[in-house]
Amino acid sequence: MTEKTIELPGIISVRDLAEKIDSSPIDIIKALMQNGVMANINQQVDFDTAAIVASELGYEATLEMIEQVEDGETGEIALWRRLIANEDEKSLKVRPPVITVLGHVDHGKTSLLDAIRSTAVQEGEVGGITQHISAYQVTHDERLITFLDTPGHAAFTAMRSRGAQGADIVILVVAADDGVMPQTKEAYSHAKAAQVPIIVALNKMDKDNANPELVKKQLADIGLVPDDWDGDTIIVPVSAKANTGLEDLLEAILLVADNTEILANPEGQEFGTVIEAKRNRAKGVETTILVQNGTVNIGDVLIAGTTYGRVKAMTDYFGKSVVIAEPSQPISVMGFNDVPVAGDLFRSVKNDKEARLIVADRIEKQKEAAQAKSHKITLENLFDHVKAGNVRELRLIIKADVQGSLEPIVSSLQEMSATDDEGKIKVTVVHSGTGNISESDVMLAGTSGAIVLGFNAKPDTAAQKTAEKEHVSIRYYDIIYRLIEDVEKALKGMLQPEEKEVVLGKAEVRAIFKVRKLGSIAGCRVIDGEIRRNAKVRVMRGKKEIFAGEIGSLKHEKDDVREVRKGFECGIGVKNFSDFEENDIIECYTIELVSAEL
Ligand code: GDP
Repeated sequence: MTEKTIELPGIISVRDLAEKIDSSPIDIIKALMQNGVMANINQQVDFDTAAIVASELGYEATLEMIEQVEDGETGEIALWRRLIANEDEKSLKVRPPVITVLGHVDHGKTSLLDAIRSTAVQEGEVGGITQHISAYQVTHDERLITFLDTPGHAAFTAMRSRGAQGADIVILVVAADDGVMPQTKEAYSHAKAAQVPIIVALNKMDKDNANPELVKKQLADIGLVPDDWDGDTIIVPVSAKANTGLEDLLEAILLVADNTEILANPEGQEFGTVIEAKRNRAKGVETTILVQNGTVNIGDVLIAGTTYGRVKAMTDYFGKSVVIAEPSQPISVMGFNDVPVAGDLFRSVKNDKEARLIVADRIEKQKEAAQAKSHKITLENLFDHVKAGNVRELRLIIKADVQGSLEPIVSSLQEMSATDDEGKIKVTVVHSGTGNISESDVMLAGTSGAIVLGFNAKPDTAAQKTAEKEHVSIRYYDIIYRLIEDVEKALKGMLQPEEKEVVLGKAEVRAIFKVRKLGSIAGCRVIDGEIRRNAKVRVMRGKKEIFAGEIGSLKHEKDDVREVRKGFECGIGVKNFSDFEENDIIECYTIELVSAEL
């Protein structure tokens, strides 16, 4: 009899397996029992086990290949790139540009977004915008422009940190009466790191003390040279209050859009970005998404991060029901099973079942990724990453208490580089500024793979928490040459982490047993922490260290064990040591490598 072939997922329940191979769950359970596996009908078995059972029932099983596109180590970003790369060039069409508004607090981001939104309404859109869905579209010269209505770079970096290219163009709002401020520079660094074109909206031009020429000079100083000064930054004077210059701004957006390839395939694979999501008591999960490729229809099954759902209803930014959503269109979607994270990518899948499998797989991968994150770049491991061919650049974010320290630090760092067999390893200062290390600095470091160096600058609580979560390395200095020296050493792979002893636990010797082959074994009780088989130990008598070495054997009752916790008895043999006495304390510790971070 030739075997029938069947595709099985990595994990399957007994019930589903029975269904797949057309037999009763009882038969499956029996077959499992014969192979030493006790399972009930709802139990999950792995592919190997399922394959054995399937083969006994006449099926040859192969592993179902789900999400092959997601197997790279860079996860979502790789997926994103490949989704776009998969599109046939000929099917790509121009889509409306997606704009995000960044800038210093109080420079008028919200006012500008409101002003642009209301011009669109005045242009004859009926009903006005009744629903605030954190993104809207306006028409200018019969062309659509999409605005993300979540000003500020927190939302922007949140998107980038998940691999999504949220916006095609950044509007950097600078108040003409206040000029370039710290967050202006920060926003600029973010946009530059994302390689997104920037248009400057010089706002508050209605004010008496507006000084556009001075602000232009400040902009030129940070690298945004106005086009009327032979630079390539378009600067549009506007007033969100007096509603002036808005047409020019929209014009400038279309001009920049025409010089940038902003494309999508409306017929292709549906994907895009989650802009915002919340649970609505009456309606369930309400998710605002920005479609970036394909066309979303009612009934499609979407997945975003570890959530999924069938699209039950869609509304546009006017609160009007729609049945399709095209590239660059922001819509509110009902039907996700849980609240997706803003900034997550979404895409369509075949059906609920595929969605469930992918989500299960992603949850598993998330766990692995959490572990992998701890391998992010630090000054100490930079050279290992260089050797492994992962990086050719040391990216830094520098914060200092005063401008006077910042300048010499940044200029010496920018001149620095090292050379190895592969060529140059260069230093790039992604962002620098004065003041404490903010959450935004840490986010930027996380998304751009940079290390944060603080000179007399410390992180605030939020920044510290984010750094821990994202495993961003922050180092502190109070002497300039130490900072420079550490970076120099890191480039040459000469910065060694310090060794630190971490005490795991203590055991008290209660009795001594002579064992012929092993020498003396100390019968102990663990009085603190735990004793680990593969750790180092020292034997203490009173305050004196009698011996330091390694554990030779560790037994609990008659069994060899890997660890024994506080409150339990154990037998400890120490390599090359036999002279235990009652009441000796055996201290168990490991050596950890720590870098000079806090
Ligand atoms: P955001 O923090 O950047 O979102 O700034 P807002 O939009 O909240 O504006 C901050 C303040 O500046 C508010 O009091 C606005 O009324 C005011 N403002 C915004 N745009 C203009 C403008 O063009 N002219 C003047 N005179 N005031 C403005």
